[in-house]
Amino acid sequence: MHKLILITGASRGIGAATALLAASQGYSVIVNYKSQKDKAIHLTEQIRNCGGNAWTIQADISCPEQVIHMFNEIDSLGILKALVNNAGVVDLQTSFVDVKPERLQRIFNTNVIGAMLCAQQAIRRMSTRHGGTGGSIINVSSSSVITGSPNVYVDYAASKGALDVFTRGLAKEVAQEGIRVNAVRPGFISTDIHADTGNTERFNNADKIIPLGRCGNTEEIAEAILWLISEKASYCAGSFLNLTGGL
Ligand code: NAP
Repeated sequence: MHKLILITGASRGIGAATALLAASQGYSVIVNYKSQKDKAIHLTEQIRNCGGNAWTIQADISCPEQVIHMFNEIDSLGILKALVNNAGVVDLQTSFVDVKPERLQRIFNTNVIGAMLCAQQAIRRMSTRHGGTGGSIINVSSSSVITGSPNVYVDYAASKGALDVFTRGLAKEVAQEGIRVNAVRPGFISTDIHADTGNTERFNNADKIIPLGRCGNTEEIAEAILWLISEKASYCAGSFLNLTGGL
């Protein structure tokens, strides 16, 4: 049976780098994406060309029915050993007072509820209490939980704060069921997401305030995620790894 890892939002950015690294470490990779099918397919081809196994599954993780459908498809491919709740969205930089309810719903439905829905399905498959053989869940949070991101995206930071509390509580709840739950908190990482804030200057100038003097790259986040999943992190549960270049 294939040893499966599901990475949500793996068509590009941090998710794609995590998929490539996971494949190189022997995982069969499920590349979830929402809309960028071409990128997801290109990534799976890249993995297969290197001798790995990968499949794409389209699903909007904020939609409960689509999450269930995705996990049912996964069941026919192998045994799920790891879930990376990576898919996430931001929105335009703004003061909180101007944020519309629809934006709040989109951000929380994806960044919080989507991750929760995926975790629920993963637990039903991994938990020793449910007949599984254990596994690992990684939530991709953000260093914005530390600053709260005033005048940029307080709503996004709050969604990641919720994800952190979820990580802490869930880690305790399933620790004795063979599942370790942890989170990474990236800082400024070079991906498309910064364009979605409408202010790429903030990212371009970030190196001036980062103690290590540069933004991070996606491979550096992937390394941390794969380490947390691995047996090398066997005593790590309910932990948060800040990957911020010292910020
Ligand atoms: P990105 O390059 O914008 O990629 C986002 C990914 O999420 C894409 O694969 C996208 O799929 C997917 N996605 C978005 N909404 C989805 C949904 N509803 N269902 C399924 N997939 C969905 O972002 P990134 O920078 O790699 O960010 C990945 C994670 O890291 C996010 O949770 C983000 O909040 C977090 N993070 C990033 C940074 C940073 O500086 N980059 C810093 C801190 C935290 P499509 O391609 O199909 O649209």
